[in-house]
Formats: sequence, structure tokens, C-alpha cells
Amino acid sequence: MGNPPEQDDPYAGERVRMVREQIERRGVSDPRVLRAMESVPRHLFVPESFRTSAHDDGPLPIGEGQTISQPYIVAFMSEAIRPRPTDRVLEIGTGSGYQAAVLSRLVQHVDTIEVRPRLADMARQRLRELGFANVTVRVGDGHRGLPEQAPFDAIVVTAAPQDVPPALLQQLAVGGRLVIPLGTLDQELVRVTRREDGTDREFLLPVRFVPLTREARRPD
Ligand code: SAH
Repeated sequence: MGNPPEQDDPYAGERVRMVREQIERRGVSDPRVLRAMESVPRHLFVPESFRTSAHDDGPLPIGEGQTISQPYIVAFMSEAIRPRPTDRVLEIGTGSGYQAAVLSRLVQHVDTIEVRPRLADMARQRLRELGFANVTVRVGDGHRGLPEQAPFDAIVVTAAPQDVPPALLQQLAVGGRLVIPLGTLDQELVRVTRREDGTDREFLLPVRFVPLTREARRPD
């Protein structure tokens, strides 16, 4: 506290530039989202060998064939759930833990589910070390959601199924927002809002995410 950010964080300037040039310029405007993107140290969520590319305008590999999403997409999805400070949020597809870390700055609590135990362990340890205390990382199949903690005010899915998993809709509070990529190669990012008497569906953006795997994976 009190020090200029560059003093203990050599990437603070790059993050500011990332937010201005990649995120604000493309229309993300929620000031809380922009501040979260500026403050979460993205370089600590990528493998060390990719650290200098951490703020590039694209996804990066994080191991096991998976990727950390492009900064713009993380910001866009964070804004798209219309986060409120009192919200309890579920993320499917923890990966590096970066999206969960950004969300944790915007809402009260984030539960995040990862199907690959090794990625879940790494993300859990990283989030703990960096002090993201309001994130809980769990190993499991995101298709099932997390019934014991439902309902959620918002759900963010960062791997793509063909259709919305029914359990996730059931675990959305009335007024809750679900943001999810749907499809195989040509995917659409969709927002489903739960109403008293049904759901609204909006198309948001063409996207490309890794697939939401169907079954719990066995070691290869
Ligand atoms: N949100 C991540 C990036 C997502 S990569 C980040 O910020 O880094 C997508 C992740 O979804 C991968 O880690 C993959 O292992 C995970 N995944 C794929 N299928 C899943 C499933 N059925 N349940 C939970 N996680 C799944």
C-alpha cells in the first residue's frame, strides 16, 4: 500500500495499456470491471515461459491442452454477468484461476469448478498465495453445477458445451445471469437471464473456447 504500483509490480503499466487498448477500446465500460482487470496480476496466472506475453491480445496455453482466455474476453464476460458486490457466482472451467480472480474483485464469493485435478490444484494454490480469499476451487464436472451452494446470482462458463446444461439453469436465482459459449467450432457467447416465468436468451459475441468435456477424465 502507498507505493506506486510499478515499484513492486513491473507489469502494472502493461496492464493499464492492455485495459485501454484492448478492452475499453472495444466497448467494455463498467468501471469496476476495468479496475479489476488493471489490478489482477495476469502475468502470475500464465506459465513462467509466457510471462512476457501475458498481456498480448489473445489466449495463451496453460498446460494440459487448455488456455487462459484473451484479456478482452475475460473482461467482456465479467461485464456481461452484470456483477453486483453482494452476488454469489459460480464459474465452470477454472483453468489458471484468472477469470475467477477477476470475478472475485467484483462480487462477494466465487465458486469455481475444474474437471482436471492438476489444474485445479495449481489454481487453488496460486489464488491462495495471491490472497484471493473469496474464491473456492473445486474438482468436478461442471455439467452438474454445484447444487449444494445454489442458487447463484450469476454463472460464467468458460468451456463450450453444445447446449446449456440443465443443472446450471436450475441453479440460477430468479433474476440471475448465465453467460456461456455454445457450439463446437463456431461458437456463440450467450446470456440467459432467469425470470419468474421463464428465461430470456441474448446472443452476445462469436467466440472460441475449448470444449466442455462430457465426462470426468481418467489419467491418459
Ligand atoms: N477460466 C479459465 C480458462 C478456461 S479454459 C482461466 O481463466 O484461465 C477451460 C477450462 O475448462 C479448462 O481448464 C478445462 O479443463 C475446463 N473444463 C473442461 N470441461 C470441463 C467440465 N466438464 N467441468 C469443469 N471444467 C471443465
